[in-house]
Amino acid sequence: MSVLDLARADIRALQPYSSARMEASGGRVMLNANESAWAPPGDHDLACNRYPDPQPAALVDALARLYGVRASQVLVGRGSDEAIDLLVRAFCRAGQDAIAIQPPTFGMYAVSARIQDAAVVTVPLAADFTLDVDALLAAVTPAVKLVFVCTPNNPTGQLVPLADVERLAQALRDRAVLVVDEAYIEFSDAPGAAPLIDRFDNLAVLRTLSKAWALAGVRIGTLLANDEVIALLKRIMAPYPLPRPCVALALEALSEAGQVAARAHIATVRDERERMALALAQVPGVRQVLPSQANFLAVRFDDAGATYQRLLDAGIVVRDVRRYPQLGDALRITLGTPEENDRVLEVLNNLVADGRKRSDGTAMGAQA
Ligand SMILES: *Cc1c(COP(=O)(O)O)cnc(C)c1O
Repeated sequence: MSVLDLARADIRALQPYSSARMEASGGRVMLNANESAWAPPGDHDLACNRYPDPQPAALVDALARLYGVRASQVLVGRGSDEAIDLLVRAFCRAGQDAIAIQPPTFGMYAVSARIQDAAVVTVPLAADFTLDVDALLAAVTPAVKLVFVCTPNNPTGQLVPLADVERLAQALRDRAVLVVDEAYIEFSDAPGAAPLIDRFDNLAVLRTLSKAWALAGVRIGTLLANDEVIALLKRIMAPYPLPRPCVALALEALSEAGQVAARAHIATVRDERERMALALAQVPGVRQVLPSQANFLAVRFDDAGATYQRLLDAGIVVRDVRRYPQLGDALRITLGTPEENDRVLEVLNNLVADGRKRSDGTAMGAQA
């Protein structure tokens, strides 16, 4: 059985749009795409009057090298969000098929599924936010075509051990595609799952330049998967997904100098993660700092709502994750510069001072 047998038959049979740039490139006088012959103001030799290459070879090759796979196993899109959407559309028949997720986790899997009218099977993470492989496998009905696993998980920060990924890929073979979202893996100690793609044709790995590579505004995400899956998704992707300025910025980030800078920032984030986890645990009113392998900390508070507001009043915006299951008392705090992180600690320690004033009756006793 091929992994493509899990995909929608109508998508496999679809005659894709054939853009001018796909049909012919490399000429010197390009008169086949109704482009302007003149570069726009401020073009800086980017040739933005021309449509971009659908999958620029230099970028595909750089990403293949970075992630340790072959170019035919790479699909570059507008953030990993686009890859999630493409996977759901290619594998899930509206009104019939489903995806499986483990809440609390990244929201886009369920949103993409709902847009496609695919059902969402939820298998909650254990109380300690680890993934229960057996429970997940037990929930995979024949309707489930995609199983999403986020590692390190957003918003909790925990890793899924590679051995669990391998076990899932093996058990799901011929049943479903395992999609491993590694948006934050650069901040962890763990190896990624990309080397397993050659062994499991039903394994897909999501990587992004949005977090560790400082390019959230450039929207470049990568799907690593079996050649056949990549080829199928290319057929349904928008014709020219990658703007030329974005490709240029991504190539610069992936250059040798860019990689040195990224590694330095990752090291700082990891140092700050350790420092902040210890410091936050000392702040009265903090119930727990969840162990994190990502560039954020999920923190439980006695009063998360008031803490959120207090930070906001000080101009600090964190993510209120109280709507997620099992995180009803938590905020997710991204690790910033050391100065920004100091500011968070300052404000949180003030919050406690105010709270004491209130509870000992001196300031607000009448209302208590
Ligand atoms: C931020 C994030 C992404 C989105 O990445 P883009 O490449 O910017 O679309 C994907 N998955 C998770 C878990 C994320 O937190």
